[in-house]
Amino acid sequence: MTLNARIPSGPIQDKWDKHRFEMKLVNPANKRKYTVIVVGSGLAGGSAAATLSELGYQVKCFCFQDSPRRAHSIAAQGGINAAKNYRNDGDSIFRLFYDTVKGGDFRAREANVYRLAQISVNIIDQCVAQGVPFAREYGGLLANRSFGGAQVSRTFYARGQTGQQLLLGAYQQLEKEISRGGVTMFPRTEMLDLVVVNGRARGIVVRDMVTGRIETHVGEAVVLGTGGYGNVFYLSTNAKGSNATAIWRAHKRGAYFANPCFTQIHPTCIPQSGEYQSKLTLMSESLRNDGRVWVPLQQGDTRPPDRIPEAERDYYLERRYPSFGNLAPRDIASRAAKTVCDETRGVGPGGLGVYLDFAGAIERLGEDAIRERYGNLFEMYQRITDENPYRVPMRIYPAVHYTMGGLWVDYNLMSTIPGLYVIGEANFSDHGANRLGASALMQGLADGYFILPNTIGDYLASAKPEKIDAGHPECRLVQEETTVLTRRLLDVNGKRTVDSFHRELGRLLWDKCGMARDASGLREALGRIPALREEFWRNVNVPGSDAELNQALEKAGRVADFLELAELMCRDALHREESCGGHFREEFQTADGEALRDDEHFAYVGAWEYAGRDADPRLHKEPLTFEYVHLAQRSYK
Ligand SMILES: Cc1cc2nc3c(=O)[nH]c(=O)nc-3n(C[C@H](O)[C@H](O)[C@H](O)COP(=O)(O)OP(=O)(O)OC[C@H]3O[C@@H](n4cnc5c(N)ncnc54)[C@H](O)[C@@H]3O)c2cc1C
Repeated sequence: MTLNARIPSGPIQDKWDKHRFEMKLVNPANKRKYTVIVVGSGLAGGSAAATLSELGYQVKCFCFQDSPRRAHSIAAQGGINAAKNYRNDGDSIFRLFYDTVKGGDFRAREANVYRLAQISVNIIDQCVAQGVPFAREYGGLLANRSFGGAQVSRTFYARGQTGQQLLLGAYQQLEKEISRGGVTMFPRTEMLDLVVVNGRARGIVVRDMVTGRIETHVGEAVVLGTGGYGNVFYLSTNAKGSNATAIWRAHKRGAYFANPCFTQIHPTCIPQSGEYQSKLTLMSESLRNDGRVWVPLQQGDTRPPDRIPEAERDYYLERRYPSFGNLAPRDIASRAAKTVCDETRGVGPGGLGVYLDFAGAIERLGEDAIRERYGNLFEMYQRITDENPYRVPMRIYPAVHYTMGGLWVDYNLMSTIPGLYVIGEANFSDHGANRLGASALMQGLADGYFILPNTIGDYLASAKPEKIDAGHPECRLVQEETTVLTRRLLDVNGKRTVDSFHRELGRLLWDKCGMARDASGLREALGRIPALREEFWRNVNVPGSDAELNQALEKAGRVADFLELAELMCRDALHREESCGGHFREEFQTADGEALRDDEHFAYVGAWEYAGRDADPRLHKEPLTFEYVHLAQRSYK
């Protein structure tokens, strides 16, 4: 199959308007005849479900939490970008577009990124109208702060809980539509497979997580807003429940998986403190507006930070990247932290940490100003580490945070299966090989509020899918396969817990396909992952039954999928013989240790097609062309 991104013709600034005009519309009276299945009720899925229902479609929305309000989006701390230029500091739609393409190390599609920058301004208006309490200046105007990879202040925020406030906005819109009858909500319901009929996505098979009942829902289109797969690494900043099952099983039904190896490692997380830890905690990038990152100049210096004089400190980000300083992009700041720790200049237990120091900002602005900006983050840090960051510098270390890879989608956000749309972090996104801070919320909401509700109408009006019901033979077949798979997990009856497999997989992936990768490590991982998978299916122990709430069973299904996805990630990382963004191949770096791209051979999106259990996946390439942003070595110096 040739990948057709369906990018509209014409100048980049006119493409979206022109496309919206050219797309077919569904007559308002006909919209209620269509059922759209939306899996996920985070910022992407929740905003899409509510908006589609407001447009008049019948929506069935699913999530595995007990309430849409608990989607992982609620954890987003720092903010959301928009090219409003409220600070009059030189921002514009073009600058946000430029920063994002460059920040992603030239591995994103220009047309999509430009549209994202255009829509960013509408998102803020939409959210303000909903009552989202963004921080304001003394005079009442919306406040902004800076995030990595930008020299302007364009990040809108609500203290350190922007995701929560945005989600409350989307949620109240969703609740309104639920009570109106436009959305039927299915909480505690997990999608376990996709039903494809005559080549089109027509439904999903789900398990009621309380009763264990497996059933099929059909509709005229299916939307996946199921979030990222960072938990494949076991330890990550993601919510523990985040997983890849929905997109992975859709992949096995025909949706191509793009750039699976592009993982974002966030530089500012609380360092791991023990072997049995199951979760890592982010300290928002916004903290780098005021915190300064440093390590001792001397190797192995174990003096407490207040005993290390200024002259014996290395503010390595300010030294290496004077233009962007502490707000260097995430991939670059993470690698720089790794480098100083590899040089045995790291701090804290095991030397896997660097300082994020607020002493200067507190002296300059006062403790109250810092508390007002970041109070909840400081409190969270203190509760976890028992150290007071107003008095001693925070200790931070990079951790898995976001996945730029995901299901391949065209300009309309449709996957390679007609009728299957993918939005938010679940798609391969507009962030290329590295996402800039505060742009995931922007993308999820652009997809859900503004893009998908337009493009899905064009599909429904053109394809006019015939009516089917859950008794269709294909539905019955997929439902039966799901039931069999669930029973198989329970029947293994082995000796190892699901978590022990997950932890081992995560460690392997972090070591071989994490912050730095090389061919020999990736080959080793490609040998060990199938062996671990084979042991899983022989020796996993899943207690309980399938007719009740069974969290071990839920986890087992997710880990089974991670064990397959991890192999594809390593395969993708091995084939991409260049470094770009978060994909840092040790063999491909510049003399001063920066990522060395190979545009001649790798300026493409790598989209993998599932070819069956015992066959190698097939790689398809979507070439990337850059007409508006000049391809150049990325520099933040
Ligand atoms: C700690 C942290 C802080 C962050 N801070 C920021 C920030 O400040 N700014 C920013 O731009 N980005 C931030 N991000 C990234 C951002 O939060 C996420 O990328 C974004 O919220 C993802 O939204 P989503 O709607 O795509 O997915 P999610 O919010 O993860 O929602 C996924 C939804 O899918 C459902 N689901 C998943 N699988 C299934 C299934 N099989 N069956 C049924 N339902 C399913 C879930 O129940 C949930 O409703 C942060 C990320 C983390 C981890």
